[in-house]
Amino acid sequence: MAVDVLIVGAGLSGLMAARTLLDRGHSVHVFDKGRSVGGRLATRRVGDDGLADHGAQFFTVRGATLQRYVDNWRALDLVYIWGTGWSDGSVKRTAGDGHPRYAVRGGMNKLAKHLASDVQVTVDRLVTAVKQTDDGWTLQDSAGESAGGRGLLMTPPMPETLELLSESGVHLQPDDFADLRRIRFGPCLCGIHEIEGDVDLPEPGAMQDFQSDVYWVADNRAKGISGARIITSHANAKFSRQNWDASEADIIRALESAVRPFLKPGAKIAHTQLKMWRYSVPLRTHAQEFLLANGLPPLVFAGDAFGGRGRVEGAFMSGLAAGEAMHKALSSAE
Ligand SMILES: Cc1cc2nc3c(=O)[nH]c(=O)nc-3n(C[C@H](O)[C@H](O)[C@H](O)COP(=O)(O)OP(=O)(O)OC[C@H]3O[C@@H](n4cnc5c(N)ncnc54)[C@H](O)[C@@H]3O)c2cc1C
Repeated sequence: MAVDVLIVGAGLSGLMAARTLLDRGHSVHVFDKGRSVGGRLATRRVGDDGLADHGAQFFTVRGATLQRYVDNWRALDLVYIWGTGWSDGSVKRTAGDGHPRYAVRGGMNKLAKHLASDVQVTVDRLVTAVKQTDDGWTLQDSAGESAGGRGLLMTPPMPETLELLSESGVHLQPDDFADLRRIRFGPCLCGIHEIEGDVDLPEPGAMQDFQSDVYWVADNRAKGISGARIITSHANAKFSRQNWDASEADIIRALESAVRPFLKPGAKIAHTQLKMWRYSVPLRTHAQEFLLANGLPPLVFAGDAFGGRGRVEGAFMSGLAAGEAMHKALSSAE
């Protein structure tokens, strides 16, 4: 059955756009290639009682709009303040800068699950093609099924979106294409380390040092989301790009050597899983919170690369704005 809006991507921006459109009385259908909603709000189960956030680690709030939602999520005990700043590892405790770093009970992915609770989402479906029709759009997915909608809202990282449009034969107007092609993402090599024994990370359980190749090491147990001691490590974009094609063993060795200084005597890294994020955070963003394509049926682009903020707040604000823009585009097309 056709809906008003097809949304590709059930990350934070796609879910916020979906909720905005539902509030405006539109029907939506969201598709995601992942096994669960959330995209880069990613939490992995490790063993019997381990959990690791391996995408976004925490988020900050700069604007009043996200703050209103966060106040509500805190009242629901969904979101909590993990800390107010990080040590670079040289001191055990830092005064921080006073700005809250928020985390989600049970892992960052729980926020996406909460937002998706009353949204029609199909997961485990790669959208393989989108096509313009007389009255909007159709998409095809990896299960060979198709769906139709008057509007199409795209939220994957921009290189993936542009590849999908190009393979589908959808041609954007040159100015729109040039704007979107400028968006750039950095990669991130991520380690998920199972620890036997104890660790000694600065309070409240993480170190952040932008001078280091592996700039983030965090203890998911101290964070309060994991029973087992599971450490997450993140390498910066430069190191990740340079080492992207290295062997898995070499990458793991580099990530583990950044974790080892924080192990207490007698503790050891029992096992490390590697997660390679090709598109982790936007390095060059689009100034506006969304882009409405010119000269096509309603087609809106959104995600954390829009609005100049990046990160969780950027994805959140872009999703809201894109939902509103799609609502206006559908209303004026009636
Ligand atoms: C390692 C890492 C660390 C980070 N740390 C932080 C942090 O500490 N604080 C912070 O604020 N932000 C952080 N971020 C960034 C934050 O996670 C993102 O800004 C935000 O989650 C992006 O949301 P989004 O909806 O724009 O994109 P995404 O979450 O990427 O959502 C896009 C969705 O589209 C889906 N998709 C793509 N192509 C297709 C297709 N063809 N068919 C179907 N589905 C498709 C994907 O599966 C994905 O679910 C981090 C990200 C990473 C990867």
